[in-house]
Amino acid sequence: MNPFDLTGHVSVVTGGNSGIGLAMADALAAAGADVCLWGTNAERNEKAAAELARHGRKVLALRCDVSDEEQVESAMTRTVAELGRLDSCFANAGVGSAGTRFTETTLAEFRRVTSVNLDGAFLTLRAAARVLIEQGEGGSLVGTSSLAARQGPPRGQAYAASKGGLISMITAIAIELARHHIRANAILPGWVSTPLADPMLESEGFQRKVLPRMPVGRWGKPGDFGALAVYLASPASAFHTADAITVDGGYLAF
Ligand code: NAP
Repeated sequence: MNPFDLTGHVSVVTGGNSGIGLAMADALAAAGADVCLWGTNAERNEKAAAELARHGRKVLALRCDVSDEEQVESAMTRTVAELGRLDSCFANAGVGSAGTRFTETTLAEFRRVTSVNLDGAFLTLRAAARVLIEQGEGGSLVGTSSLAARQGPPRGQAYAASKGGLISMITAIAIELARHHIRANAILPGWVSTPLADPMLESEGFQRKVLPRMPVGRWGKPGDFGALAVYLASPASAFHTADAITVDGGYLAF
């Protein structure tokens, strides 16, 4: 038996049309899963779905703003109607902070970030949990947090709060839903080259001050998260829950 074989498995990946989410969705489909991507940009959704189709599995891409309760509910209903079931859900969609000083950060800016990164994950994982409990066969819930939950990013309080809150929420989900054989884990990526992070990673300051502090000597790649997604979706991680898994090339420890 191959514990990483996801044939017959159905995954939802929010923010699955770009960066880390796209790489996770790609690896899940390569391992045999049918995958549903959720994102707000129809063009990116279509392009990502076309890319994943090469694995020969069912791929669905839905327009869904994860901060909107009705959209999340309807996307989950459609996912299950079209793909037949749900086994794992990756609440990965996220946005960055605007980079304003803490004292100048408006409540509207704080909520712009937390409504996607924290409310969005709450709505997504709640909708997924309801389906998994109803099916009665267990499953896996995963949230993409960030090293920002552990460090203190200046001018990034909204982002840090959303990612710290996500870890706490996932830990509490893991404990409550363990009796349903549903596990829940957070992933904490370090600096990964994606459309979200590239403007920072390519800046002179990051090249000069941060890159030399990366023990592995490079930025992360979205593909660094593919096998982890397969592991967390698969029976290989049956005993792994309530964890916050750091994948950062050693940055936090240095
Ligand atoms: P990315 O390539 O920009 O991907 C972000 C994804 O989120 C896109 O697919 C985007 O799709 C989706 N998204 C944004 N707002 C959304 C909304 N309201 N509803 C639904 N989908 C939405 O960036 P990434 O770096 O891969 O980010 C993925 C996750 O990793 C995020 O949670 C981020 O905070 C986290 N992370 C990234 C890094 C890093 O260094 N890159 C480090 C730590 C954590 P649409 O544009 O179509 O909506």
